[in-house]
Amino acid sequence: MNQLYQQLTPYLERSMALEAALILFDWDMATLAPEKGAEKTGTMIGILSDEYFKNTTDKTVVELVKKLKDAQDLNEVEAAVVRELWERIERLEGIPSEEYREYSELKAKARGVWEKAREADDYQLFAPVLEKIIGFEKKFAAYQKKDGQNIYDILLDRYEKGFGVKTLDVFFDRLKKELMPVVKQVIAHNDRVDNSFLKKSFDIETQKKVARFIAEYVGFDFEKGVLAESAHPFTTNLHNEDVRITTNYEKHNLEGALFSVIHEAGHGIYELGIRNDLTQTPVGTGASMGIHESQSRFYENMIGRSEAFWKPIYKQLVEAFPSQLTNVSLHQFVQAVNRVEPGLIRIKADELTYCFHIMVRYEMEKLIMEEDVDIAKLPEIWNDKYEEYLGIRPKDDASGILQDVHWSQGDFGYFPSYALGSAFAAQIWHTMEKEISINKELEAGNLKVIKAYLGNHIHQYGKLKPARQLLEEATGEEFNPQYYIDYLKNKYKQIYEL
Ligand code: ZN
Repeated sequence: MNQLYQQLTPYLERSMALEAALILFDWDMATLAPEKGAEKTGTMIGILSDEYFKNTTDKTVVELVKKLKDAQDLNEVEAAVVRELWERIERLEGIPSEEYREYSELKAKARGVWEKAREADDYQLFAPVLEKIIGFEKKFAAYQKKDGQNIYDILLDRYEKGFGVKTLDVFFDRLKKELMPVVKQVIAHNDRVDNSFLKKSFDIETQKKVARFIAEYVGFDFEKGVLAESAHPFTTNLHNEDVRITTNYEKHNLEGALFSVIHEAGHGIYELGIRNDLTQTPVGTGASMGIHESQSRFYENMIGRSEAFWKPIYKQLVEAFPSQLTNVSLHQFVQAVNRVEPGLIRIKADELTYCFHIMVRYEMEKLIMEEDVDIAKLPEIWNDKYEEYLGIRPKDDASGILQDVHWSQGDFGYFPSYALGSAFAAQIWHTMEKEISINKELEAGNLKVIKAYLGNHIHQYGKLKPARQLLEEATGEEFNPQYYIDYLKNKYKQIYEL
């Protein structure tokens, strides 16, 4: 082993341990911790976070990584670890430490301000904080800026390397041109799909049993994973033998828990599939936000909302909820879980209109970062865009610009990954279909074949390769959004008989 890399190892191990502790605290706070404990536990978390930050930005670490980034004698994993660490250092390096601290404090407060503003439905409460956050984001990105780069590209790069404005403009333009007519047609024939039976009363305890069954059925391994409850579903992981997913149950919404479990199981299966020599290293996690979403959406939408998937197990769902589903055929059920309903809230959006929610945010972030738009005008611009793309206008800011937490945490550039994930998923499906007859396997209840394929081509590599390269190698071609567009067009043509 390279001598310098050997010196780096104890720092890496310490970082992983501190990170695991922080992840466990996070998990506990979101699932089981009593509300009153938050403040006192918070001080301990603060100390650990501080230790983590110090350890990762330690002068020795920075010096070692700088020397190692051009080393020729690293193996493939070591080289990927150094690349990953160097990217993190580059992002933080130019920032004066007082500014970094000031911004961290601002973000910690901003979350509360955002919550209050949303509850009070008052954008004016949030606007001054938002303006400061935008200021910091621009300033920090400028420290990192190289010739020819623009600010928004630097921010986008944090989440999806290599998918900057140039790629995204083309991507979203094509979605707009090809899918807006489909949305309009679907809305005109809204009466063709009924989903009212999904809003009947569904016993929560039974829902829990069904959720566990479904997670197991798609391939989430309960020997190395758990399923818990939290306000918002999420996935977290310590390593490839401890991955945790959550969901949220609502009595009058069967679809919510059912499909969020499949979604999170998709994330979970990814993390469980990462190679042993990568796990517990800085590259022992999903390749990028977008690739992660591609896996969860592949399971949730492309597989989970298909008739082939439900064919072998729909009987069990009806047995679990006989009074609600006995008179609902498999076909009616699948139609219902694919019903399109243009709404104002992103996290409740259906598969077809989802990308328009992202488009609104992408276009606004571009205006904010590149055109110095007036912060006071943002709610109106937001509302105009919803009216243009989805035909509905928010009546208040709570269901408009104040609905997402992301901007209060400085997460500009994050949203496009969600839409990219769906498009990656469609491209992966297209390639997989050449080797495997996916629907036939689903009808036979053979989910293992699908998990093995994704494991082979995507999961095992973790963050070993940059996302763009991983996608290209897995699918044999560059990113191509046409598969996603075709998939949506065909799907909704069939469902709505257009
Ligand atoms: Zn997700």
